Amino acid sequence: MPNDLPNSFFNAPDEQGRFGIHGGRFVSETLMPLILELEEQYEFAKTDDTFWAQMDDLWKHYVGRPSPLYYAPRLTEHLGGAKIYLKRDELNHTGAHKINNVLGQILLAMRMGKTRIIAETGAGQHGVATATVCARFGLKCVVYMGATDVERQAPNVFRMRLLGAEVVPVTSGRGTLKDAMNDALRDWVTNVRDTFYCIGTVAGPAPYPAMVRDFQSIIGKEVRWQLAEQEGEGRLPDTLIAAIGGGSNAMGLFYEFLDEPSVNIIGVEAGGKGVNDKMEHCASLTGGRPGVLHGNRTYLLQDEDGQILEGHSISAGLDYPGIGPEHSWLHDSGRATYVNATDTEALEAFQLSCRLEGIIPALEPSHALAHVIKLAPTLPKDHILVMNMCGRGDKDIFTVAKHLGFDMKV
Ligand SMILES: *Cc1c(COP(=O)(O)O)cnc(C)c1O
Repeated sequence: MPNDLPNSFFNAPDEQGRFGIHGGRFVSETLMPLILELEEQYEFAKTDDTFWAQMDDLWKHYVGRPSPLYYAPRLTEHLGGAKIYLKRDELNHTGAHKINNVLGQILLAMRMGKTRIIAETGAGQHGVATATVCARFGLKCVVYMGATDVERQAPNVFRMRLLGAEVVPVTSGRGTLKDAMNDALRDWVTNVRDTFYCIGTVAGPAPYPAMVRDFQSIIGKEVRWQLAEQEGEGRLPDTLIAAIGGGSNAMGLFYEFLDEPSVNIIGVEAGGKGVNDKMEHCASLTGGRPGVLHGNRTYLLQDEDGQILEGHSISAGLDYPGIGPEHSWLHDSGRATYVNATDTEALEAFQLSCRLEGIIPALEPSHALAHVIKLAPTLPKDHILVMNMCGRGDKDIFTVAKHLGFDMKV
């Protein structure tokens, strides 16, 4: 829709929570009052200094923010082009960016007088972050997780239980993330009075996509001042790159720079075994089309009858069948570019990061790095590229070992 370019990308969504034709609030009548109350409370908290002072304090002393912006010298030299910086969100407490958002939502829940937190989780990373913050504040935590995922992600299930959370295996549908999201929404309607639904990415009905983005936008805000510190006052990044599951770490990096036209913005989806008709990938923007899921309109992986498809990725954290509505809008308007990287490319990038920078990355940001590997050599040496290293790889070493044919039982 190039004729319809907004004059600011920063002021979205509109009052109905729409990003162009995407987003919105597709929920049942019973959910509507809850959503509206949440929106009202968030709008109020957003402009309240004491709310942000509490966030800043926890970010600093509990999460470990600011995360470093690290110039990666050997990666830069190896690729022979752009100057590469890594935003080290993998150093956060719980090992990824998820906790930035969970803290915000749980502080909001407490302001609203809620004592019971529910969440959905796929790979388990959002569940672990939610269980962590609930333990920190003594709140009851219930995590819905597809039965298939409960089996596949046993270590994270155990972590959540150690942290005091109840993990509910969901057997409806195919027993994966989409079914867990449906059950969490059902729980919320039934337990309105004391319950808060903590969503893990920039999806769900409005106000969730914008609210989660706002909590994650600390990533890009830090990049702005950290880069100025290292490269000189006013120096902006030339290119930003982040991996996309639902899109929250990417929006967190991008949002600060949406209205800086000189900044090139690239999201990397999971290309799985290759983006083709077999749907063995999770590239919602490249291989999907608009539909409604989880209370919002966005690009989705679906079959001809509109059934949601599961997709495939080597990285459990990227196999969300949709993408946050703001990304769909940035894609349609051309403000951001979306590409994909395959399982094989991500595995190669994973190993390169280990060997050249001494950083074992999660498989999700390995997809972003796979694109950095393609792009950096084509760019001049004074081009500054910032990639979000959004998670660490401890959780993925068994998957990687299997793919590399390494026997972990020795
Ligand atoms: C959950 C997760 C993702 C995917 O979620 P987004 O909302 O797209 O950020 C990516 N990387 C890591 C490390 C994760 O834990």
